[in-house]
Amino acid sequence: MTESTKGIIFNIQRFAIHDGPAIRTTVFFKGCPLRCWWCHNPESHKILPEKFDGCNLRRGFDQTFSMEKDEIGKEISVDEVMNEIVKDRVFFEESGGGVTFSGGEPLMQPEFLKDVLAECKANGIHTAVDTSGFAPTEIIIDVARSADLFLYDIKLMSEEEHQKYTGVSNQLILKNLIEVDRLGKKIIIRIPIVPELTDTNENLSATRGFISRLKNINEIDLLPYHRIGEGKYKKFSKQNKMSEIKSPESESLENIKKFFSELECKVKIGG
Ligand code: SF4
Repeated sequence: MTESTKGIIFNIQRFAIHDGPAIRTTVFFKGCPLRCWWCHNPESHKILPEKFDGCNLRRGFDQTFSMEKDEIGKEISVDEVMNEIVKDRVFFEESGGGVTFSGGEPLMQPEFLKDVLAECKANGIHTAVDTSGFAPTEIIIDVARSADLFLYDIKLMSEEEHQKYTGVSNQLILKNLIEVDRLGKKIIIRIPIVPELTDTNENLSATRGFISRLKNINEIDLLPYHRIGEGKYKKFSKQNKMSEIKSPESESLENIKKFFSELECKVKIGG
């Protein structure tokens, strides 16, 4: 084990059922190069730990390495994070679950991610990487060698809209997805369903057309926008550009599900 490798995370969530197959432990990496308007984890954006008055987001953390009360993010070694992950091994074995690395964007800390993935592999623990796909191609290919599954977001197919609503181009993201697919990795596509932004006929048709050309898509998860992150924008004094947008109606979600089901792969509402 590479004992010296350290990363910065901001949460460990146990018994997660929306972050990949079966019961999982989700490790949330701090730092993300995107700024999606609908992000419900705005506290993940900056990579370094941050102090906020009166915040307390320590849910799921074990007492042994919980963060300071007013701090979001903590430096942690591969050994320490593995100590937390293996505590849940019995649940992984019974349910067929494992650990999911999410964020933020886990590919922003590639050395730490690769070392934890290698340790999980050595311990026989199933791994999933939940990513926006916005990372250098060589990094994503390198990570794909150790990860069992990718949870890969497709948000907007229009380059212009992607730039506007996430802050970055979608070109690298789509190119990387083609590369990961070529490697034969298992992939679950995750599509945030945000009324008026991502749920337009144009965007959904273009997304389905793109997915239809990939070979290793196991499942498509439709992630309905919800407003639970709203309070965080206030708490962390960040600008919320989504105050007018409501959660999608269930009828609309069912129609979108039907639309993607024509690809003959499993489609789920929720993760
Ligand atoms: S990629 Fe995920 S964590 Fe990053 S800004 Fe978008 S929604 Fe938030």
